[in-house]
Amino acid sequence: MALASSTRASALSASVARRPPLSAFRRASRARHGRRARHAAASAVDTVPLGVDGGAYAKELASALDAVRLASELCQEVQGQLMRMDEQAETKEDRSLVTLADYAAQAIISWRIAQDFPDMTLVGEEDAEALTEGGEGGAETLNKVTNLVNKTLKGHMGEKAPTLSSQDVVDAINRGQSTGGPTGKHWILDPVDGTLGFVRGDQYAIALALMDDGDLKVGVMGCPNMPKTGEVLEFQESYAYGFSPRLVSKMLAGDSLGWYKGCIFTAVRGKGAYMFPTDPTLKFEPVKVSVSEAFDPRKAKFTEPVMKANSSQGFTAAVATNLGIECKPLRIYSQVKYGSVARADADVFMKFPKAGYMEKIWDHAAGVILVEEAGGTVSDAGGAPLNFAGGRYIEGLDRGIIAASSALHAKLLDSVAKSWSSSQL
Ligand SMILES: [Mg+2]
Repeated sequence: MALASSTRASALSASVARRPPLSAFRRASRARHGRRARHAAASAVDTVPLGVDGGAYAKELASALDAVRLASELCQEVQGQLMRMDEQAETKEDRSLVTLADYAAQAIISWRIAQDFPDMTLVGEEDAEALTEGGEGGAETLNKVTNLVNKTLKGHMGEKAPTLSSQDVVDAINRGQSTGGPTGKHWILDPVDGTLGFVRGDQYAIALALMDDGDLKVGVMGCPNMPKTGEVLEFQESYAYGFSPRLVSKMLAGDSLGWYKGCIFTAVRGKGAYMFPTDPTLKFEPVKVSVSEAFDPRKAKFTEPVMKANSSQGFTAAVATNLGIECKPLRIYSQVKYGSVARADADVFMKFPKAGYMEKIWDHAAGVILVEEAGGTVSDAGGAPLNFAGGRYIEGLDRGIIAASSALHAKLLDSVAKSWSSSQL
């Protein structure tokens, strides 16, 4: 059953209507492109006008968007291979394909950013140890990763594409070992967020953010299976995006689905949040996205992790009931959840992991700035903003993570407090 929400659909079209005329966008991007083209002559890659204002971080935004687009194309190819295989989920072959995507996506993003920012530091999920010290199996995987990276570069850049050596790929992956911290600029990357969703042909994300002196400034999130609008939400015992699971196998059936091949979200501090199609051949102007404005708990949706192991679904249900939410949850793999809140498919995101679980910064950085720039608020269960500057983990997180429109966030905090005192967590 497709569940279209007319209020959300009109909220989205209202935010589209508020955008400046297209000609202004084109003039602005042409002007930026001109400036960039002059002093980016040494770069191996062309910078394409984006149609969104990156302000002081325009160059970082352009670089990150191109990098995430490369990785999205790469992941779509690998997930396509997975979906064409035997339908049995999670075979050993599945696992090794996922691993290829993890390494190759980190390699291609790290390489791409370094073309524009040679001294960049990266806090990335993966390292290449298993490839370089994993004997024959490791060498074989490295070979496959290198071929995949080169094939994607060729598909994206054509004749101008460089051919990376396996050592280039190892170096690019291993750049991700930074521990970040409160000073200077650090990129934060989860090359494939939501591994289980990826294996199942369902939602996953490529999540890249830039932190500058401890504050998130840029976020780019590739959501290669996220449809253009939430109107394709399907309801069974909980909500999910339509076509899933095994969404990709259906997408491979034809190109007419266009935007249903996925979205890329961008956010720059103070400059708002936008959505692009993953497919660069679709010539759409970026769409400004905003969190839901009105809040009627009886109609609100909340989103949470699919897996019970990652968050207490009993507790989130109690909080939802306390708030007056009647709807079943929208359960989504990966940071696509933040995308759902940012464009008002869902009103609330909640995650309450087991006590003692340490959240990694790359699992949240891109999603958090996306929701914030779409007009929302993200905090821990005590109301404090998440701390991305304490190393590879989010330090001092109080119980869980909640995200919502700013107006609703205070009510949500209150409901969490009430539900907590009567729970056994
Ligand atoms: Mg990952």
